[in-house]
Amino acid sequence: MGDLRTAFRDHLAQTSPFPIALDITGAEGCYLHTRDGKRYLDLVAGLAVNNVGHRHPQVVAAIREQADRYLHVIPYGEFIQEPQVRFAEKLAGVLPSSLDCTYFVNSGTEANEAALKLAKRITGRTRLVACHGSYHGSTHGSLSITGNEAKKYRNRPLLPDVHFLRFNTMAELDRIDADTAAVVVEPIQGDAGVRVPDAAWMRALRERCTATGAMLVFDEVQTGFGRTGTLFAFERFGVTPDILVLGKALGGGMAMGAFVGPRTHMRLLTHDPVLGHITTFGGHPLACAAGLAALDALLAERLVENAARMGTLFKQLLVHPAIHEVRGEGLMLAVDLGDADRVQRVVMHGLERGVLGFWFLSCPTAFRIAPPLVISEPQVREACAAILAALDQA
Ligand code: PLP
Repeated sequence: MGDLRTAFRDHLAQTSPFPIALDITGAEGCYLHTRDGKRYLDLVAGLAVNNVGHRHPQVVAAIREQADRYLHVIPYGEFIQEPQVRFAEKLAGVLPSSLDCTYFVNSGTEANEAALKLAKRITGRTRLVACHGSYHGSTHGSLSITGNEAKKYRNRPLLPDVHFLRFNTMAELDRIDADTAAVVVEPIQGDAGVRVPDAAWMRALRERCTATGAMLVFDEVQTGFGRTGTLFAFERFGVTPDILVLGKALGGGMAMGAFVGPRTHMRLLTHDPVLGHITTFGGHPLACAAGLAALDALLAERLVENAARMGTLFKQLLVHPAIHEVRGEGLMLAVDLGDADRVQRVVMHGLERGVLGFWFLSCPTAFRIAPPLVISEPQVREACAAILAALDQA
Protein backbone atom coordinates (compact mmCIF):
# COMPACT_ATOMS: atom_id res chain seq x y z
CA MET A 1 0.00 0.00 0.00
CA GLY A 2 1.26 3.45 -0.94
CA ASP A 3 1.27 6.67 1.03
CA LEU A 4 -2.34 7.47 1.98
CA ARG A 5 -2.24 11.13 0.98
CA THR A 6 -0.70 10.32 -2.42
CA ALA A 7 -3.22 7.52 -3.02
CA PHE A 8 -6.05 9.91 -2.07
CA ARG A 9 -4.91 12.33 -4.73
CA ASP A 10 -4.07 9.77 -7.42
CA HIS A 11 -6.69 7.04 -7.09
CA LEU A 12 -9.73 8.71 -5.54
CA ALA A 13 -11.68 10.87 -8.01
CA GLN A 14 -11.52 14.47 -6.81
CA THR A 15 -14.20 17.15 -6.72
CA SER A 16 -11.92 20.18 -6.70
CA PRO A 17 -8.22 21.01 -7.05
CA PHE A 18 -8.08 22.09 -3.40
CA PRO A 19 -9.72 19.60 -0.99
CA ILE A 20 -9.11 20.33 2.72
CA ALA A 21 -7.85 16.74 2.99
CA LEU A 22 -8.04 16.34 6.77
CA ASP A 23 -6.99 12.72 7.35
CA ILE A 24 -9.79 11.53 9.63
CA THR A 25 -9.23 8.74 12.14
CA GLY A 26 -12.25 9.26 14.39
CA ALA A 27 -15.23 11.43 15.25
CA GLU A 28 -17.58 11.83 18.19
CA GLY A 29 -20.11 14.46 19.22
CA CYS A 30 -18.87 17.79 17.84
CA TYR A 31 -15.26 16.71 17.26
CA LEU A 32 -13.21 15.25 14.42
CA HIS A 33 -9.83 13.59 15.05
CA THR A 34 -7.03 13.43 12.50
CA ARG A 35 -4.01 11.15 12.03
CA ASP A 36 -1.59 13.89 13.11
CA GLY A 37 -3.22 13.84 16.56
CA LYS A 38 -5.24 17.04 16.16
CA ARG A 39 -8.83 17.59 17.24
CA TYR A 40 -11.22 19.88 15.35
CA LEU A 41 -14.45 21.45 16.60
CA ASP A 42 -16.78 20.66 13.72
CA LEU A 43 -18.98 23.56 12.55
CA VAL A 44 -20.01 21.73 9.40
CA ALA A 45 -21.58 18.47 10.71
CA GLY A 46 -20.77 16.57 7.53
CA LEU A 47 -22.69 19.36 5.81
CA ALA A 48 -25.88 19.40 7.86
CA VAL A 49 -25.86 15.61 8.32
CA ASN A 50 -24.66 14.85 11.84
CA ASN A 51 -27.44 16.72 13.65
CA VAL A 52 -27.30 14.38 16.67
CA GLY A 53 -23.50 14.53 16.67
CA HIS A 54 -20.96 12.14 15.25
CA ARG A 55 -21.45 8.53 16.26
CA HIS A 56 -24.32 9.13 18.64
CA PRO A 57 -24.28 6.04 20.94
CA GLN A 58 -27.93 5.18 20.18
CA VAL A 59 -27.31 5.43 16.44
CA VAL A 60 -24.21 3.24 16.64
CA ALA A 61 -26.09 0.67 18.78
CA ALA A 62 -29.00 0.60 16.32
CA ILE A 63 -26.63 0.01 13.39
CA ARG A 64 -24.84 -2.79 15.29
CA GLU A 65 -28.11 -4.48 16.24
CA GLN A 66 -29.40 -4.31 12.69
CA ALA A 67 -26.08 -5.57 11.28
CA ASP A 68 -26.53 -8.66 13.42
CA ARG A 69 -29.95 -9.31 11.81
CA TYR A 70 -29.72 -8.54 8.09
CA LEU A 71 -28.19 -6.07 5.62
CA HIS A 72 -29.58 -5.63 2.12
CA VAL A 73 -32.11 -8.33 1.26
CA ILE A 74 -34.19 -7.08 -1.70
CA PRO A 75 -34.79 -3.86 -3.67
CA TYR A 76 -36.97 -1.29 -1.93
CA GLY A 77 -40.64 -2.10 -1.48
CA GLU A 78 -40.91 -5.89 -1.81
CA PHE A 79 -40.34 -7.23 1.71
CA ILE A 80 -41.50 -6.06 5.10
CA GLN A 81 -38.31 -4.76 6.72
CA GLU A 82 -39.03 -3.60 10.23
CA PRO A 83 -36.57 -0.65 10.37
CA GLN A 84 -38.10 0.84 7.18
CA VAL A 85 -41.67 0.46 8.34
CA ARG A 86 -41.02 1.78 11.85
CA PHE A 87 -39.10 4.77 10.51
CA ALA A 88 -41.84 5.65 8.00
CA GLU A 89 -44.42 5.32 10.77
CA LYS A 90 -42.36 7.59 13.03
CA LEU A 91 -42.02 10.23 10.29
CA ALA A 92 -45.78 10.18 9.75
CA GLY A 93 -46.16 10.83 13.48
CA VAL A 94 -44.02 13.98 13.49
CA LEU A 95 -45.31 15.44 10.19
CA PRO A 96 -48.67 17.07 9.34
CA SER A 97 -51.39 14.48 8.71
CA SER A 98 -51.32 15.01 4.91
CA LEU A 99 -47.68 13.86 4.79
CA ASP A 100 -48.34 10.31 5.90
CA CYS A 101 -46.45 8.13 3.40
CA THR A 102 -42.67 7.98 2.88
CA TYR A 103 -40.63 6.56 0.03
CA PHE A 104 -36.98 6.01 1.03
CA VAL A 105 -34.18 6.53 -1.47
CA ASN A 106 -30.41 6.98 -1.16
CA SER A 107 -29.67 10.70 -1.38
CA GLY A 108 -31.14 14.18 -1.50
CA THR A 109 -30.79 14.53 -5.24
CA GLU A 110 -32.49 11.18 -5.87
CA ALA A 111 -35.36 12.25 -3.64
CA ASN A 112 -35.76 15.45 -5.68
CA GLU A 113 -35.70 13.49 -8.94
CA ALA A 114 -38.45 11.23 -7.63
CA ALA A 115 -40.49 14.18 -6.33
CA LEU A 116 -40.42 15.73 -9.83
CA LYS A 117 -41.63 12.45 -11.33
CA LEU A 118 -44.38 12.19 -8.74
CA ALA A 119 -45.54 15.78 -9.31
CA LYS A 120 -45.72 15.17 -13.07
CA ARG A 121 -47.68 12.02 -12.43
CA ILE A 122 -50.14 13.72 -10.04
CA THR A 123 -50.80 16.73 -12.25
CA GLY A 124 -50.33 15.31 -15.75
CA ARG A 125 -48.22 18.42 -16.45
CA THR A 126 -44.52 18.93 -17.12
CA ARG A 127 -43.61 22.59 -16.42
CA LEU A 128 -41.33 23.10 -13.43
CA VAL A 129 -40.71 26.18 -11.33
CA ALA A 130 -37.85 26.70 -8.87
CA CYS A 131 -35.97 29.61 -7.28
CA HIS A 132 -32.90 31.58 -8.25
CA GLY A 133 -29.93 30.68 -6.06
CA SER A 134 -31.28 27.24 -5.19
CA TYR A 135 -29.33 24.01 -4.97
CA HIS A 136 -31.21 20.73 -5.34
CA GLY A 137 -28.50 18.23 -6.23
CA SER A 138 -26.04 17.13 -8.86
CA THR A 139 -28.04 14.75 -11.09
CA HIS A 140 -29.69 16.00 -14.28
CA GLY A 141 -33.23 16.65 -12.99
CA SER A 142 -32.08 18.28 -9.77
CA LEU A 143 -29.52 20.31 -11.66
CA SER A 144 -32.25 21.49 -14.04
CA ILE A 145 -34.13 23.09 -11.13
CA THR A 146 -30.95 24.40 -9.49
CA GLY A 147 -30.78 28.18 -9.79
CA ASN A 148 -27.03 28.54 -10.26
CA GLU A 149 -25.92 28.71 -13.89
CA ALA A 150 -22.26 28.10 -13.00
CA LYS A 151 -23.15 24.56 -11.91
CA LYS A 152 -25.28 23.86 -15.01
CA TYR A 153 -23.75 25.21 -18.19
CA ARG A 154 -21.50 22.22 -18.88
CA ASN A 155 -24.40 19.79 -18.69
CA ARG A 156 -26.96 21.08 -21.15
CA PRO A 157 -29.39 20.06 -22.47
CA LEU A 158 -31.14 19.73 -19.13
CA LEU A 159 -34.89 19.41 -18.52
CA PRO A 160 -36.97 21.79 -20.68
CA ASP A 161 -39.61 24.28 -19.50
CA VAL A 162 -38.05 25.17 -16.13
CA HIS A 163 -38.74 28.67 -14.79
CA PHE A 164 -37.24 30.54 -11.87
CA LEU A 165 -38.65 32.87 -9.22
CA ARG A 166 -36.92 35.30 -6.91
CA PHE A 167 -37.61 34.93 -3.21
CA ASN A 168 -40.05 37.55 -1.90
CA THR A 169 -41.02 38.84 -5.36
CA MET A 170 -44.81 38.62 -5.36
CA ALA A 171 -45.08 39.80 -8.97
CA GLU A 172 -43.29 36.67 -10.21
CA LEU A 173 -45.73 34.22 -8.63
CA ASP A 174 -47.84 34.35 -11.79
CA ARG A 175 -45.08 32.28 -13.46
CA ILE A 176 -46.80 29.43 -11.63
CA ASP A 177 -49.71 28.57 -13.89
CA ALA A 178 -52.13 25.85 -14.97
CA ASP A 179 -49.29 24.08 -16.86
CA THR A 180 -47.04 23.89 -13.80
CA ALA A 181 -46.46 20.43 -12.34
CA ALA A 182 -44.20 21.39 -9.44
CA VAL A 183 -42.77 24.38 -7.65
CA VAL A 184 -39.64 23.25 -5.82
CA VAL A 185 -38.39 25.49 -3.03
CA GLU A 186 -35.90 25.25 -0.17
CA PRO A 187 -37.93 26.90 2.62
CA ILE A 188 -34.62 28.39 3.75
CA GLN A 189 -32.02 28.37 0.99
CA GLY A 190 -28.80 26.72 2.10
CA ASP A 191 -26.07 27.01 -0.47
CA ALA A 192 -27.27 30.40 -1.64
CA GLY A 193 -25.70 31.54 1.65
CA VAL A 194 -28.67 30.92 4.00
CA ARG A 195 -31.54 33.03 2.65
CA VAL A 196 -34.74 33.15 4.67
CA PRO A 197 -37.87 34.13 2.71
CA ASP A 198 -40.63 36.31 4.14
CA ALA A 199 -43.55 34.42 5.66
CA ALA A 200 -46.00 36.52 3.59
CA TRP A 201 -44.31 35.40 0.36
CA MET A 202 -44.32 31.77 1.48
CA ARG A 203 -48.03 31.96 2.21
CA ALA A 204 -48.70 33.64 -1.16
CA LEU A 205 -46.63 30.90 -2.82
CA ARG A 206 -48.76 28.24 -1.13
CA GLU A 207 -51.95 30.01 -2.21
CA ARG A 208 -50.76 30.33 -5.80
CA CYS A 209 -49.88 26.61 -5.96
CA THR A 210 -53.26 25.67 -4.53
CA ALA A 211 -55.07 27.99 -6.94
CA THR A 212 -53.26 26.61 -10.01
CA GLY A 213 -53.09 22.97 -8.90
CA ALA A 214 -49.28 22.94 -8.97
CA MET A 215 -47.57 20.69 -6.43
CA LEU A 216 -45.61 22.66 -3.84
CA VAL A 217 -42.45 20.68 -3.11
CA PHE A 218 -40.27 21.71 -0.17
CA ASP A 219 -36.69 20.54 -0.38
CA GLU A 220 -35.78 20.19 3.31
CA VAL A 221 -32.67 18.16 2.60
CA GLN A 222 -30.54 20.75 4.39
CA THR A 223 -33.09 22.41 6.69
CA GLY A 224 -34.68 19.25 8.09
CA PHE A 225 -34.43 17.59 11.49
CA GLY A 226 -34.08 20.59 13.74
CA ARG A 227 -31.32 22.42 11.93
CA THR A 228 -33.21 25.75 11.80
CA GLY A 229 -34.67 25.62 15.33
CA THR A 230 -37.93 23.90 14.35
CA LEU A 231 -38.13 20.21 13.44
CA PHE A 232 -38.79 21.24 9.80
CA ALA A 233 -38.30 24.73 8.41
CA PHE A 234 -41.78 24.87 6.88
CA GLU A 235 -43.28 24.99 10.40
CA ARG A 236 -41.87 28.51 10.78
CA PHE A 237 -44.06 29.80 7.93
CA GLY A 238 -47.31 28.03 8.76
CA VAL A 239 -47.25 26.50 5.27
CA THR A 240 -47.44 22.77 4.46
CA PRO A 241 -46.03 21.41 1.18
CA ASP A 242 -47.71 18.80 -1.02
CA ILE A 243 -44.47 16.84 -1.22
CA LEU A 244 -41.60 17.00 1.27
CA VAL A 245 -38.06 16.06 0.25
CA LEU A 246 -35.61 14.88 2.91
CA GLY A 247 -31.98 13.80 3.05
CA LYS A 248 -28.74 14.53 4.89
CA ALA A 249 -29.62 14.31 8.65
CA LEU A 250 -32.46 11.88 7.83
CA GLY A 251 -30.08 8.90 8.03
CA GLY A 252 -28.30 9.86 11.28
CA GLY A 253 -24.97 9.69 9.42
CA MET A 254 -25.92 6.95 6.95
CA ALA A 255 -26.65 7.65 3.25
CA MET A 256 -30.34 8.29 2.82
CA GLY A 257 -33.00 10.41 1.14
CA ALA A 258 -36.78 10.32 1.11
CA PHE A 259 -39.83 11.98 -0.37
CA VAL A 260 -43.04 12.17 1.58
CA GLY A 261 -46.59 12.83 0.43
CA PRO A 262 -50.21 11.82 0.92
CA ARG A 263 -50.75 8.05 0.57
CA THR A 264 -53.23 8.57 -2.27
CA HIS A 265 -50.59 10.39 -4.30
CA MET A 266 -47.72 8.06 -3.40
CA ARG A 267 -49.78 5.08 -4.62
CA LEU A 268 -49.61 6.49 -8.16
CA LEU A 269 -46.08 5.12 -8.37
CA THR A 270 -47.39 1.54 -8.08
CA HIS A 271 -49.29 1.30 -11.37
CA ASP A 272 -49.31 2.48 -14.99
CA PRO A 273 -46.45 1.68 -15.04
CA VAL A 274 -46.01 -0.74 -12.19
CA LEU A 275 -42.72 0.08 -10.41
CA GLY A 276 -43.01 3.76 -11.37
CA HIS A 277 -39.99 4.57 -9.24
CA ILE A 278 -37.57 1.92 -8.08
CA THR A 279 -34.30 1.72 -6.21
CA THR A 280 -32.15 -1.23 -5.20
CA PHE A 281 -30.69 0.20 -2.01
CA GLY A 282 -33.31 2.83 -1.05
CA GLY A 283 -34.37 2.43 2.57
CA HIS A 284 -31.33 0.30 3.40
CA PRO A 285 -32.05 -1.40 6.74
CA LEU A 286 -28.89 -0.01 8.35
CA ALA A 287 -29.76 3.52 7.23
CA CYS A 288 -33.35 3.21 8.45
CA ALA A 289 -32.28 1.81 11.82
CA ALA A 290 -29.78 4.67 12.17
CA GLY A 291 -32.28 7.31 11.03
CA LEU A 292 -34.96 6.14 13.43
CA ALA A 293 -32.49 6.10 16.35
CA ALA A 294 -31.28 9.56 15.38
CA LEU A 295 -34.80 11.00 15.27
CA ASP A 296 -35.60 9.45 18.65
CA ALA A 297 -32.42 10.96 20.12
CA LEU A 298 -33.08 14.36 18.51
CA LEU A 299 -36.50 14.53 20.16
CA ALA A 300 -35.52 12.99 23.54
CA GLU A 301 -32.52 15.30 23.95
CA ARG A 302 -34.51 18.36 22.84
CA LEU A 303 -31.88 19.20 20.25
CA VAL A 304 -34.30 21.30 18.19
CA GLU A 305 -34.63 23.69 21.11
CA ASN A 306 -30.85 23.60 21.62
CA ALA A 307 -30.35 24.54 17.95
CA ALA A 308 -32.53 27.62 18.43
CA ARG A 309 -30.71 28.64 21.65
CA MET A 310 -27.18 28.05 20.35
CA GLY A 311 -28.00 29.85 17.11
CA THR A 312 -28.98 32.93 19.08
CA LEU A 313 -25.74 32.68 21.08
CA PHE A 314 -23.65 32.50 17.88
CA LYS A 315 -25.37 35.65 16.63
CA GLN A 316 -24.74 37.44 19.94
CA LEU A 317 -21.05 36.51 20.06
CA LEU A 318 -20.12 36.97 16.40
CA VAL A 319 -19.64 40.72 16.41
CA HIS A 320 -16.58 42.01 14.56
CA PRO A 321 -15.93 44.96 12.23
CA ALA A 322 -15.23 42.51 9.36
CA ILE A 323 -18.63 40.81 9.71
CA HIS A 324 -21.29 42.42 7.52
CA GLU A 325 -24.07 40.10 8.60
CA VAL A 326 -24.78 36.82 10.38
CA ARG A 327 -27.84 35.37 8.57
CA GLY A 328 -30.00 32.40 9.25
CA GLU A 329 -32.07 30.52 11.78
CA GLY A 330 -31.03 28.07 14.48
CA LEU A 331 -27.77 26.39 13.57
CA MET A 332 -27.99 27.12 9.86
CA LEU A 333 -25.97 30.32 9.71
CA ALA A 334 -23.99 32.30 7.15
CA VAL A 335 -21.31 34.70 8.34
CA ASP A 336 -21.07 37.21 5.51
CA LEU A 337 -17.85 39.23 5.24
CA GLY A 338 -18.68 40.80 1.87
CA ASP A 339 -15.22 39.68 0.71
CA ALA A 340 -14.52 36.27 -0.85
CA ASP A 341 -10.73 36.34 -0.32
CA ARG A 342 -11.17 37.14 3.34
CA VAL A 343 -13.60 34.24 3.68
CA GLN A 344 -10.86 31.90 2.36
CA ARG A 345 -8.35 33.24 4.86
CA VAL A 346 -10.73 33.09 7.82
CA VAL A 347 -11.72 29.47 7.11
CA MET A 348 -8.04 28.47 6.86
CA HIS A 349 -7.03 30.43 9.99
CA GLY A 350 -9.98 28.85 11.82
CA LEU A 351 -8.68 25.43 10.82
CA GLU A 352 -5.24 26.30 12.22
CA ARG A 353 -7.06 27.12 15.48
CA GLY A 354 -8.87 23.78 15.49
CA VAL A 355 -12.26 24.99 14.22
CA LEU A 356 -13.73 23.67 10.98
CA GLY A 357 -15.99 26.12 9.12
CA PHE A 358 -16.89 25.73 5.46
CA TRP A 359 -17.85 27.52 2.25
CA PHE A 360 -21.14 27.75 0.33
CA LEU A 361 -21.65 26.58 -3.25
CA SER A 362 -23.19 29.86 -4.37
CA CYS A 363 -22.15 32.56 -1.90
CA PRO A 364 -18.39 33.19 -1.93
CA THR A 365 -18.54 36.18 0.43
CA ALA A 366 -19.78 34.13 3.40
CA PHE A 367 -18.82 31.02 5.34
CA ARG A 368 -21.10 28.49 6.91
CA ILE A 369 -21.78 27.63 10.55
CA ALA A 370 -23.80 24.41 10.76
CA PRO A 371 -22.50 22.36 13.70
CA PRO A 372 -24.07 19.25 15.19
CA LEU A 373 -27.15 20.33 17.13
CA VAL A 374 -25.62 18.82 20.29
CA ILE A 375 -23.16 21.72 20.47
CA SER A 376 -22.95 23.12 24.01
CA GLU A 377 -22.63 26.70 25.22
CA PRO A 378 -18.89 26.33 26.08
CA GLN A 379 -18.28 24.87 22.61
CA VAL A 380 -20.11 27.78 20.95
CA ARG A 381 -17.95 30.19 22.99
CA GLU A 382 -14.80 28.27 22.00
CA ALA A 383 -15.84 28.36 18.31
CA CYS A 384 -16.64 32.08 18.36
CA ALA A 385 -13.36 32.97 20.12
CA ALA A 386 -11.47 31.10 17.38
CA ILE A 387 -13.49 32.72 14.59
CA LEU A 388 -13.01 36.22 16.02
CA ALA A 389 -9.26 35.60 16.35
CA ALA A 390 -9.18 34.27 12.76
CA LEU A 391 -11.00 37.43 11.64
CA ASP A 392 -8.39 39.61 13.42
CA GLN A 393 -5.65 37.66 11.67
CA ALA A 394 -7.28 37.83 8.23
N1 PLP B 1 -31.12 19.71 -1.72
C1 PLP B 1 -30.47 20.56 -0.91
C2 PLP B 1 -31.20 21.74 -0.34
C3 PLP B 1 -29.13 20.35 -0.60
O1 PLP B 1 -28.47 21.21 0.19
C4 PLP B 1 -28.47 19.23 -1.16
C5 PLP B 1 -27.05 18.96 -0.87
O2 PLP B 1 -26.31 19.78 -0.41
C6 PLP B 1 -29.20 18.37 -1.99
C7 PLP B 1 -30.53 18.64 -2.24
C8 PLP B 1 -28.56 17.16 -2.61
O3 PLP B 1 -28.39 16.15 -1.66
P1 PLP B 1 -27.36 14.96 -1.94
O4 PLP B 1 -25.98 15.56 -1.92
O5 PLP B 1 -27.62 13.98 -0.82
O6 PLP B 1 -27.72 14.39 -3.26
